[in-house]
Amino acid sequence: MNHKVIAFHYTLRNSKNEILDQSEAAHPFTFLAGSAQIIPGLETELLKLAKGEKKKILVAAERAYGLREESLQVTVPLENLPKDVKVGDQFQAEGKADMPPFTVLDIRESEAVLDANHPLAGMDLTFDVELVELRDATDEEVTHGHAHGLEGHSH
Ligand code: ZN
Repeated sequence: MNHKVIAFHYTLRNSKNEILDQSEAAHPFTFLAGSAQIIPGLETELLKLAKGEKKKILVAAERAYGLREESLQVTVPLENLPKDVKVGDQFQAEGKADMPPFTVLDIRESEAVLDANHPLAGMDLTFDVELVELRDATDEEVTHGHAHGLEGHSH
């Protein structure tokens, strides 16, 4: 397989045109294609662009962070949570730093409803992207499973 390293600038908006996230001007987001570092619906489209090209890419929820699943809501006793917990707070489950955080949906008398859906689940997303770099990955990057910066030298 011909591995690619992609660097791009992006502005991420939801369907209400609100900006959710964007890359920093001096630091395009750089990643190794095929390593599941970005959502599949975006990676597929980036691989079609030429260096310097700009594009508006729409990614439906199914190809972004997935649909919301009601089964990912759990109810836990309030005593298991911090005393000042409020709706909208987010918690990282212990020892699961790679999982999306829980979001507090509701607080009742003695329990709280937590949601383990990704915060962007169920949302159709729009990315305004500019492709900064598209190059072959070095053998070292392929071995490590990540990109070594724009030119492949940093670590
Ligand atoms: Zn490395």
